[in-house]
Amino acid sequence: MRAVVIGAGLGGLAAALRLQGRGHEVTVLERRERPGGRAYQIKDAGYTWDTGPSLITMPWVLEEAFAAGGLDLRSEVELRPLDPHYRIFWAGEQRHLDFSSDRERMKQEIARFSTRDAASFDGFMAALKPIYEQGILDAGRRPFLRARDLAAFTPSMLKLGAALPLYRFVCRHFEHPRVREAFSFHSLFIGGDPFRVPAIYGALVYLQILDGAWYSGGGTYSLVEAMARPLDVRCGARVERIERSGGRVSGVVLAGGERIAADVVVSNADVLGTHELLGRPTPRLRATPTMSAFLLFLGTDRTFPKLLHHTLLVGHGYRDFITAVTRSGELPSTFSTYIHAPSRSEPGMAAAGGDSLYVLLPVPNLRSGIDWRAAADGLRDRLLADFEASFGLSGLEASVRVEHRMTPADFERELGAVDGNAFATEPTLHQSAYFRQPNRDRRVGGLYYVGGGTHPGAGIPGVLLGAEITTKLIEEDRAAVAA
Ligand SMILES: Cc1cc2nc3c(=O)[nH]c(=O)nc-3n(C[C@H](O)[C@H](O)[C@H](O)COP(=O)(O)OP(=O)(O)OC[C@H]3O[C@@H](n4cnc5c(N)ncnc54)[C@H](O)[C@@H]3O)c2cc1C
Repeated sequence: MRAVVIGAGLGGLAAALRLQGRGHEVTVLERRERPGGRAYQIKDAGYTWDTGPSLITMPWVLEEAFAAGGLDLRSEVELRPLDPHYRIFWAGEQRHLDFSSDRERMKQEIARFSTRDAASFDGFMAALKPIYEQGILDAGRRPFLRARDLAAFTPSMLKLGAALPLYRFVCRHFEHPRVREAFSFHSLFIGGDPFRVPAIYGALVYLQILDGAWYSGGGTYSLVEAMARPLDVRCGARVERIERSGGRVSGVVLAGGERIAADVVVSNADVLGTHELLGRPTPRLRATPTMSAFLLFLGTDRTFPKLLHHTLLVGHGYRDFITAVTRSGELPSTFSTYIHAPSRSEPGMAAAGGDSLYVLLPVPNLRSGIDWRAAADGLRDRLLADFEASFGLSGLEASVRVEHRMTPADFERELGAVDGNAFATEPTLHQSAYFRQPNRDRRVGGLYYVGGGTHPGAGIPGVLLGAEITTKLIEEDRAAVAA
């Protein structure tokens, strides 16, 4: 069988590895200069920045994806556990909270805010355990192609409270506002508003405590390089059209006109834009994309020891901030951000004596109409001033030697992300499982999907588990035709 994978994001690479591992002929077509998609990398003047995923969870999912392609993860990359996973600071709050896999330490951290909440921690984890087992280990590894798949899954999820908004679920267990925020923000990692996503995404907290947070030597991009190495990845190859014949895919056409024949096409391109590749009109009711992100990559001439490898800085008015970026389409007036400082674990990621800082600020996607050419400079200045004033990173602005940035307009232009979304389709209740873009196209034979916009969803483990589901479907469909 000849398979074409459109896009060399982590999901596309994982699907290609699995198909190649099964003996199929696979070509990956990538529109950018290098593979990786959202998991890209910038290097400049001795500084190295990952531009997308930086927190690695569920390493066994990576192990399985590598093994399916004949690779041994541990010999390909150097995975190191991080302890603590990250530190959370709140503006105007003296206390911080360290997240860790050590449950006793976790309780001590919580106790600095509320001893009652510390006592509730075990109950919280126990409540999440079946949600993780049924929602991730089971449902995250099988397709939701039919309504009856959903019907079979829903009653137990309802019983476990997994359909409640995540924040409300967390409030049932914890009373202190800071603890509630610390145990519900994780859905933001995949573009989900903690006040709206179903508590099934609380499994993200659970799995992190269960399996830890990891760093890959050289940055997350080392995973991309290892995955791409054994594959035929053609970069600078933008697919313009998926060709069909008799209701089945027959190949793809590249910008420039080259045609590549295929028995199976796996699209890792944005699922919200698939209609364009198929020459279909834009659907009237289209799924809602997630928020976007404003990313700053700063190379500094000194270090900022206050920052750990991963640090979260939660500003005043956190809930209003989330509403502004997810619903109101407004630039936030206060900032809640994530900062990655890989040089804390691997000094070689920054020029001598400095830090390579990657700042992630969630912002509205392009549906907001914000003109990023006009807005970006001012936002960058306000953000750095806020870091200095609210979080004690004084001297940051003056220390910047090299700087890059990525705005929602870049997400759209560089990655083909519809409306400049950062995390694909929003993970709300009515856009999850059966209601998400299925892994196999409902109308076109031989067309499959992989990546953040399809089931089970975004995040490194999400897209890798999705690649497992998609490639299993391909094999099952082939077996059914052969029978
Ligand atoms: C800022 C940021 C931070 C994140 N942090 C984390 C984190 O810490 N941990 C975590 O687990 N996850 C994180 N994520 C989520 C994770 O990075 C993504 O869910 C995942 O990398 C997406 O993979 P994907 O398979 O959907 O492919 P994508 O990364 O979306 O790549 C798709 C590829 O397809 C290519 N393409 C699109 N259209 C075409 C076409 N027509 N022809 C050819 N090629 C095409 C694109 O150029 C791109 O390379 C983060 C995401 C972002 C944006």
